Amino acid sequence: MTDLTTVDSLEELEAIASVCTDCRLSEGRTNVVFASGTADASVMIVGEGPGQQEDEQGLPFVGRSGKLLTTLLAEQGIEREQVYIANVVKCRPPGNRDPKPDEIDACKPYLQRQIQLVDPVVVVTLGNFSSKLLLNTTTGITRLRGQAYEWWGRWLVPTFHPAAALRGGAKVTDDIRTDIATVVDLLTVHGEGRSSPTDGTAPAVSGGTLSETRGDPSVDPHDQQLDLFDP
Ligand code: SF4
Repeated sequence: MTDLTTVDSLEELEAIASVCTDCRLSEGRTNVVFASGTADASVMIVGEGPGQQEDEQGLPFVGRSGKLLTTLLAEQGIEREQVYIANVVKCRPPGNRDPKPDEIDACKPYLQRQIQLVDPVVVVTLGNFSSKLLLNTTTGITRLRGQAYEWWGRWLVPTFHPAAALRGGAKVTDDIRTDIATVVDLLTVHGEGRSSPTDGTAPAVSGGTLSETRGDPSVDPHDQQLDLFDP
């Protein structure tokens, strides 16, 4: 596999991913779903993996879940084009099954490099899968959400996957709203000039409490090699 740490642009990274055969998920894909959104976004959203519509269109979150996500972001004044959206794995797992550990391992360097190149102030993880993975925990999303975590020199806000809101109704949708409000509060305090979220005092967060630190918050996000499994 190419050493992705030397890749200096998202365009180059996407070009490499578009022909990637580093795991078995390449066999069943129609398109590699690399990402959508702006490269200098302050907010990066991380889902799990492409579904059928995403695989067909080559874009993340284009189905019903994606539409709900777009609506919930817009309610808080965040246009979808302002954020960067990617998944843990870039190719569709067959039958929408969970990605397997060796597939995640193979795809991890792409996500790591995306986070480094986008350099967001806040990472939002959608659902159990990406939240557990990036926070390196077995704790489920129901207990994880409701607060922001200092995470490798930036902030991480876990929330429910919008697919859970489609299944789970108003309470789950309201919880996602609350978590997105937390993101807005973090951006209000830390977004200007894209300064390190560890600078300054903790913000007043409407959606929860800031109480947990994962990874090393003193690490300069430009220098670190993110290890999503064993930070
Ligand atoms: S899922 Fe990731 S590692 Fe596997 S083939 Fe697709 S781009 Fe490559």
